[in-house]
Amino acid sequence: MLPAGNWRLKNKRHYNLKPRFAQSFKSLCSLLFPRLCGGCNRQLNLGEQTICTHCLYDLPYTDHHQHPDNIVARLFWGNLPVHSAMAMLYFRTGSKTQQLIHSLKYKGQQDIGIQLGKMMAAQFKKTDWHTGVDLIIPIPLHRNKLRKRGYNQSACIARGLADMLSLDLNTDFLIRHSATESQTTKTRYKRYQDLQNTFSVNHPGLLEERHVLLIDDVVTTGATLIAGATKLHQAGVKRISIAAAACAF
Ligand SMILES: [Zn+2]
Repeated sequence: MLPAGNWRLKNKRHYNLKPRFAQSFKSLCSLLFPRLCGGCNRQLNLGEQTICTHCLYDLPYTDHHQHPDNIVARLFWGNLPVHSAMAMLYFRTGSKTQQLIHSLKYKGQQDIGIQLGKMMAAQFKKTDWHTGVDLIIPIPLHRNKLRKRGYNQSACIARGLADMLSLDLNTDFLIRHSATESQTTKTRYKRYQDLQNTFSVNHPGLLEERHVLLIDDVVTTGATLIAGATKLHQAGVKRISIAAAACAF
């Protein structure tokens, strides 16, 4: 029993139990429910979020944010006046990028999308890539697909990005009217034709004179992005930039 005058010491001991208890509780939780890396499935260490440190260093970064004339930007040359365009990672079959995108889209791991958005934001901050952008819009899913999946994977990426850059995010302005069928057997021009009537814009007056950053998960042919961005241009958007978590070419 401590004497009454030692109440500070007594309180200090009591106070110090809290972080110790929290740490033990975290350790117990990680034993019972191990958090796994979205890229390699290894158990995450305390302090690691969603993607382990090894994967963060090992991912195939494109560095597009440092090169304005990159391969994603070239997709839009002659199709659409785009201010800046980039993808953060290369997407290859069997790669960690594929694992991350697969878990994001099909395993309910929305936190992977948010983390990818935060990683893109960190790149943008280094080069001021996002200067002038005042609104972030993700490529929407058709409402049936959204209901089935429960979330839009591109909106998860956009959320991580918007939080880190303190920018507005809107998921209602750009609407998708029809679920896209398998595109793999169609030519690029046919896909573009089919996608033209897929999107529409709500409240076009609110988009006039804005610089919109349009977000997608993976760029393949660019046809979806061109169709969505075209509708935004027709609605009066002044400037469009495009960013994706990965590019598949
Ligand atoms: Zn990993």
